Amino acid sequence: MITKDKLQKLAKQHGTPLFVIDHDALRKNYREFRKYLPRVQIYFAVKANSDPEIVRTLFKEGSSFDVASMPEFNIVYKNIKGMPAKKRQDWIWDKIIYANPNKPVETLEELDKYKPLVTFDNLEEIRKIKKHAPHAGLVLRLKVPNTGAMVELSSKFGAAPGEAVDLILEADKLGLTVEGLSFHVGSQTTNFENYVQALSLCAGIYKEARDRGYTKMNLLDIGGGFPAPYDDTVKPFRDLAKVINNELERLFPKDIQILAEPGRFMVATAGVSVAKVIGKAMRDGKPSYYINDGVYHTYSGVIFDHCKYPVKAFKKGPTKISAVFGPTCDALDVVSMAENLPELGRDDLVYSENIGAYSHASATYFNGFPPAKVVHANL
Ligand SMILES: *Cc1c(COP(=O)(O)O)cnc(C)c1O
Repeated sequence: MITKDKLQKLAKQHGTPLFVIDHDALRKNYREFRKYLPRVQIYFAVKANSDPEIVRTLFKEGSSFDVASMPEFNIVYKNIKGMPAKKRQDWIWDKIIYANPNKPVETLEELDKYKPLVTFDNLEEIRKIKKHAPHAGLVLRLKVPNTGAMVELSSKFGAAPGEAVDLILEADKLGLTVEGLSFHVGSQTTNFENYVQALSLCAGIYKEARDRGYTKMNLLDIGGGFPAPYDDTVKPFRDLAKVINNELERLFPKDIQILAEPGRFMVATAGVSVAKVIGKAMRDGKPSYYINDGVYHTYSGVIFDHCKYPVKAFKKGPTKISAVFGPTCDALDVVSMAENLPELGRDDLVYSENIGAYSHASATYFNGFPPAKVVHANL
């Protein structure tokens, strides 16, 4: 845990806006996931926060990685060490899954030499893979219910269950190997039933494939979506793990390889942002603070991730409902219209916890304001 004292010290030392990554929290999240889902190998979804130091810390813990672009691939490739260069090319695909179902031809050509593990969900992609990455191992991404997830993904990705085995047989006919199935129940899924339904769908497709003569699948990728404990309404991870373990036990053979691609769960609680008040006004009778971080920057999750981050003050005192605005000239740049804050003055610091996922990762340089400086704690 980073104390409030420490945060203020870091802000003094480095200036603001500041984005602090707590590596103790990363390790804690990784170990909690492993503890409650011991059968599952973790492929950290790099898009949640692609800081190289995060990759290094999780790799040291034993993590593998889920990437979706060549730049993400290269961040992982450069930051995981542990194999002689000659063997590295073969070893790397135990450590990386390329989990973007639609890949540019140029990317497939670059990846082919690694014998990559890649996902797909349509016929066009099978043809592209056959031509440009014939050494790839394939994982079929299925469309599964995303009911109640904070971020929905099923409208863009996944083969319909009814076409799944046809696609598998089509790939097989072209000489490609489909090694297993994957899905994503939607990000920040607090409705555990989504996992139950997805696993049941997968079991049905495994059976149908076998019945139709395809027996080469031995992998199940249960994707991401594991909820971060943003507030008390999120049930503990061990409760979700119990549900998943029961279904895995009931529906799948012991020797099947199971992976997951948690992004948010690993990094959300490991990030804290610190900003300072640069201006203040009364607007419609409400104290309104302009701070030097906003929705084009560390608070980008407010827009892209449909997430809310309470803004807290270090200062004590009677509070009033206040507005918090970002520094840019865009009226969209609103961090919050209603935060309970004491009266703040220029240069007073504010902070937001649990802001490690989909925040700094989607920060821009809009309006000339660069993303917050990143500082690593407990590295
Ligand atoms: C974004 C993404 C993830 C990570 O999702 P979280 O909800 O952050 O755990 C995992 N897999 C794929 C394919 C993704 O696109």
